Amino acid sequence: MNKDEVLEEKKVLGSGGYAFVNLSEEEELQFNLGVPHLFLGHIGRLDSEKFLRYYCKKCAKEYSGSPRIEYENLNENVGEGVILLEKGEYKCMNCNNIIAQYRKFNK
Ligand SMILES: [Zn+2]
Repeated sequence: MNKDEVLEEKKVLGSGGYAFVNLSEEEELQFNLGVPHLFLGHIGRLDSEKFLRYYCKKCAKEYSGSPRIEYENLNENVGEGVILLEKGEYKCMNCNNIIAQYRKFNK
């Protein structure tokens, strides 16, 4: 029994647009905040192959494939044992508009 094999197309929201990605049931549960929407900023870095298409608010247009992902590994101690591991941005391939930003902490 491997639920990872079943992928579903899900809409994930960002401040500058949204995207459609393929998520397994397990991933969806992991990324779900108990609200009706999934957020790219909460999910963090996803493999570009998981993206089907995205919408850029600035272009007011949908593009197929993945937005560009730019990220840095920081390992920056932000205090009280919390380490900022990585921060990144999803950007529109066409106009560089930021579709979503995320920060990944050690906890
Ligand atoms: Zn754009």
